[in-house]
Formats: sequence, structure tokens, C-alpha cells
Amino acid sequence: METLRLSTSDEDLRRAGGIIRAGSLVAFPTETVYGLGADALNAEAVASVYEAKGRPSDNPMIVHIADATDLYSLIKGGRSGISDVASKLMTNLWPGPLTMVFKKSSRVPDVTTGGLDTVAVRMPSNKTARRLIREAGRPIAAPSANLSGKPSPTTAEDVLEDMDGRIRAVIMGEQCDVGIESTVLDLTGDFPQILRPGMITKEKLSEVLGRKVYYDPSLLRSPGDDKADEEFKPKSPGMKYKHYSPDAKVRIIEGDEVDFADKAKEIGLEAKGRGEKVAILDYGRDASKAAKKLFADLRELDRQGYDLILIRALPSIGFGFSVMNRMLKSAGYDVVK
Ligand code: AMP
Ligand code: MG
Repeated sequence: METLRLSTSDEDLRRAGGIIRAGSLVAFPTETVYGLGADALNAEAVASVYEAKGRPSDNPMIVHIADATDLYSLIKGGRSGISDVASKLMTNLWPGPLTMVFKKSSRVPDVTTGGLDTVAVRMPSNKTARRLIREAGRPIAAPSANLSGKPSPTTAEDVLEDMDGRIRAVIMGEQCDVGIESTVLDLTGDFPQILRPGMITKEKLSEVLGRKVYYDPSLLRSPGDDKADEEFKPKSPGMKYKHYSPDAKVRIIEGDEVDFADKAKEIGLEAKGRGEKVAILDYGRDASKAAKKLFADLRELDRQGYDLILIRALPSIGFGFSVMNRMLKSAGYDVVK
């Protein structure tokens, strides 16, 4: 199939909305990463997203809405299904890179939620994303617009690298602001729990709610840990899959600037001795910069044929914890201390 390149003009977005309503797929920019959008209420359209991505079908999608009122019909109990906690978060942090998990209504097809009785919903702040949702006139289910397992795309060109010929259209928007996926917060349990860390940090959520917010314990473990086998059971289905991996091997190296440089040089020389092409990524201690560039850099280094990518670890606090989550996954948890 020919993949249309659409602009962000009113006319093109109207056309993109029509494509979604007709049950086909449109990739579009959000403030986090590019999404691969389908009509969230059309089971067949959603099924074709899994196919285009090569994604396991038990990995649910986030449903994107443009207005708070769009939420009511997606969740159990309608408007009264919104708890005080959810309401506070909606008021303070929507639109933005926060996804909330609710009990789902029967209107949401099982295929959209990977068979779960819960639904993940987000209201993006990106203007193009919101205009598209309004043009479509229905909620849009969208995972990241990459082939399953690859780093998420943060530019329209990176979407085309994976999806050209596999989907109906790509909206050629701007580079994503945040660069990593939204925070996923489960609100269906006794206390709010972060299933996937993102730009909206645990500290920020606690501040808004005036209460403690917890991580899914599996976020604090790596599969190589002692007790990992029993405890590495993420509640967010997506977190258990191989993820964010370029073709090159990735290793994370801990240390300050000098320490990192020394270790990277030693490991790099050894690899070069084996004939490998080695790249070094040092974002300093700047989590925002690292988030914005990480996935794009991994893809670019693959295009340039690198075999090994050495990345300096970030301080694992605040947003740094979230970016480290992606770095560790892309490295298969290979860390040089
Ligand atoms: P993606 O943005 O492509 O990484 O995919 C969306 C992520 O949201 C996946 O990793 C899912 O595991 C997570 N997610 C979506 N719906 C739910 C849900 N109902 N419960 C828990 N996690 C969810
Ligand atoms: Mg993804």
C-alpha cells in the first residue's frame, strides 16, 4: 500500500480524520513519541495496528482523547467512574504525557485493551494530535509507531523507516518534545501505582495528589537480579517485552564524566580490536536532553552501521529514572558499574 505523507494543514487533518473513521491507520505526532492511530472503537481497525507493528496481541493500546468529556463513555460507571484522584490528575496534568488506567466500559472492544477489563486513556497536549482526534470524531487507539521491539519514533522520518508501505498515512509533524513515552498510572487498585515511568514523575504525581504514589515493584528490578524471576512480573503488559532495541548492541556505563570516558575508551578499544564500529553517547546529567535524543540517536547509529553503542548512565532520580528505564531496556540491562 502507498503511505500518504500528510501535512498539518486543516485540509490534510480532515483527510486523516476520514482515514481513521474508515478503519485505516494514520501515524501522528504527540508530545511523547509518534503514535500509530486507529479508531479505538473499531475492533478490526485496532487489530490491524497489531499486524502493522508485529506487536503481540496481549499488549494493550493507549486510547487518546481530545476532551475530558470523551472519557466518560470509555470507562465503567461513566462520569461517576472518575475517582477524586483521577479528577485531580485530570485537572492538573491533562492535557499532557500522563496515561491513566481505568476500569473499562463495554463500548471499548477487547482487542483495544489486549483482553484486559481496564483501559488506558491519555489526553495529549500536542495540538496536531488533538486536532486529528477531533477531526476523526472518535477516540484514537495508538501505540508507538515503530515495529515492535524497535526504539519508538520521535520524527516523521523515523516513522516512515518502519511503517512506509504498511499504513495508510503519516502526518509529517514536528520532532517530539519529550522523546519517551507517557507515564502510565494504574488507578484501579487500592493506591495509585506507576506501571511505566515517564516525564510526569512519581514526585510530581505525589505533589499533585498530596499522597504517596508507588512504582510497580518490577520497575525497581532487572531481569538479571537474584529474585528477578519471581518478581519481574510487570503489570503493564508492554513492559515485559524486548523493547527499544536498535540492531547495534547497547551497553550502559556508570560514572562521572572522567570515569565514563575512561571506561568507554577501554571497552571501545577492545571492541575496535574485534573490528567493531563503536559509538559513544554522553548526555551528561541532563535527563530531558537524553529523553529527547535517545531514540533518534539509536536509530541514526543503526543507519550508520554501528555495532556497539556505549551510553553514559543518568542519575536515576526524577525524570532520570524514567529515561534510565528506556536505556536499560535498550541495553538488555547490560550495565558496566
Ligand atoms: P506503547 O505506547 O506502544 O508503548 O504502548 C502502550 C503501553 O501502555 C503498553 O506498554 C501497555 O502495557 C500499557 N497499557 C495500555 N493499556 C493498559 C492497561 N489497560 N493496563 C496496563 N497497562 C496498559
Ligand atoms: Mg511502544
